[in-house]
Amino acid sequence: MAYAVVAGHNSIIPGAAGNGYKEHEVARQIKDKVIFYLKQLGEKAFDCTDNVGRTKEQVWKNAVANCNKAIGKNGFIIAIHLNAGGGTGTEVFDYKGRQKDKCQRISARLAKDFSWNNRGWKNGDWIGLIKTTQAPVVYVEVCFIDNKNDMQKLMADIDKAAIGIVEEMTNKKVSHPKKEEKKATSNQPGKFALEAWEKAQTKKSKDGTSILDGTRPQEPITREQFAVVLDRLGLLD
Ligand SMILES: [Zn+2]
Repeated sequence: MAYAVVAGHNSIIPGAAGNGYKEHEVARQIKDKVIFYLKQLGEKAFDCTDNVGRTKEQVWKNAVANCNKAIGKNGFIIAIHLNAGGGTGTEVFDYKGRQKDKCQRISARLAKDFSWNNRGWKNGDWIGLIKTTQAPVVYVEVCFIDNKNDMQKLMADIDKAAIGIVEEMTNKKVSHPKKEEKKATSNQPGKFALEAWEKAQTKKSKDGTSILDGTRPQEPITREQFAVVLDRLGLLD
């Protein structure tokens, strides 16, 4: 399937702002990751964002032209925006409910993953981009840029937003990069070190303490610990 991805607004005609963030910048960060994960799933993904329009109308009309050129009427357009005006959570627009299922799934998914409101599907037949492109648009208002909680949650994990959008759009699962498992810290020294480990606890230094205290055999030693060990061995006098 082909997808055209459009981040809303641009630096010349910026969208909303709040909490130190600008809508067009955050939307572009999400857009880049949406494209990344679409491609990872083997989908065709095109960046149809406009960066040059100098009026509000020019910005969305350029995006429409980019989308039509990239995918025509075959595939879907994903538009990325951030909401404003004193609310919280996700809402997703389409043209008169023709992609209602996808809209509802994305809204519910982001609401669940970020623990914010599920504002659900909204009719966007009045929005220029939505009513003009050849392919159907799913227009995601990810969360509220003027809501501090929303933005803290979003900026802490933009990948989560992109993955949610991509998975609900494609009905496929993104293979999450496997997190490195934390190496279990053994309380037992390795076999090769057993004898030395025993001796280091048994042998007494001149002040009566053992050379090593017998804890955390597989942890690295700090410089100060090393200095103490050298001193207990009588090597520093
Ligand atoms: Zn917007």
